[in-house]
Amino acid sequence: MFIVFIGPPGAGKGTQAQRLVELLDIPHLSTGDMLRQAISQETDLGKQASQYMQAGKLVPDELVLQIIDQCLGDPQMATGCLFDGFPRNVEQAKALDDLLAKRNTPLNLVLELRVADEELVRRMSARKREDDTAETIAHRLEVYKNQTAPVLQYYADRGLLKSVDGIGTPDEVFERIRQCLDH
Ligand code: ADP
Repeated sequence: MFIVFIGPPGAGKGTQAQRLVELLDIPHLSTGDMLRQAISQETDLGKQASQYMQAGKLVPDELVLQIIDQCLGDPQMATGCLFDGFPRNVEQAKALDDLLAKRNTPLNLVLELRVADEELVRRMSARKREDDTAETIAHRLEVYKNQTAPVLQYYADRGLLKSVDGIGTPDEVFERIRQCLDH
């Protein structure tokens, strides 16, 4: 099963993604995690990506697609995975469609985790990641609205989108996600 998990920064996507991959027993493909790993390992890709991440901007598609293409070549990903933090713009969504079409494994479902802006800012201000400064938080929310929200429409048009309310305890939110999977 191939699932895309989309939500604004601070929505609690990481926590829910972890639970979801355990439940479904599929690999977790988080572009944010992979980029942070590339940066800490000081790879070429990491060096190119870090300035964008520090500024709260999207890393260029070309770099991100390089990661995705490489991951999808892994036999572990042959029958499914959870895409987390990807696609982040419509170009990436189209590129993913092409990659999956070539493999004859189209997307099964797109899950959106919804949380209002004020709550997102409150949650992100309380955690301590390097790119969680007031300025980048505001910028990442802007990027989400301008570039990632259109991805939701792209998938809604294809009948793949299901939205889940992200307000509540982690258990409550996960129960809503489980219900989406049942239908
Ligand atoms: P969050 O959702 O909290 O912003 P992520 O870990 O998903 O956290 O992403 C952190 C940063 O990594 C983003 O602000 C962006 O710079 C970069 N990034 C992650 N995934 C992508 C992607 N698919 N395309 C472009 N940039 C990405």
